[in-house]
Amino acid sequence: MSATQRPLPVPDEQSAPFWDAAAKHVLTMARCSQCGAFSLPIDIVCDHCHTNEPNYSFEPVSGRGTVRSWTVIRQSFLPGFEDVLPFVLVDVELDEQADLRMVARLLDDTGAPSRVGLRIGMRVAVAFEDLAPGKSVPAFVLDES
Ligand SMILES: [Zn+2]
Repeated sequence: MSATQRPLPVPDEQSAPFWDAAAKHVLTMARCSQCGAFSLPIDIVCDHCHTNEPNYSFEPVSGRGTVRSWTVIRQSFLPGFEDVLPFVLVDVELDEQADLRMVARLLDDTGAPSRVGLRIGMRVAVAFEDLAPGKSVPAFVLDES
């Protein structure tokens, strides 16, 4: 693991469980204690049942999903990404719930979507990039299975 210049996660009280799980390569999502729906991002009011006391808990999810959209990043405005340009950001709908969407890097493509024939509807699985000790961020890889 080489030192990265990339921005590292800075967990706060609310997001700490997410980042703790990510460090163990487990993807979690915040689940509303009132209706059981997952939300990302989370808000003070549940998107689904509109309770203002969602008391979210972070629960492991499969990390599997379907590509809904993507974009190729050719120029980064954040430091530390120069050596990975160009790269692909995928917008993924997770299997757990309709419209539960997460945007992250697609790791097994080098910015040339045509090379892997990236298409809407392709299956992906979560993977993690280890940026520093205890600091891992979720990403996706194509799921051929
Ligand atoms: Zn709810």
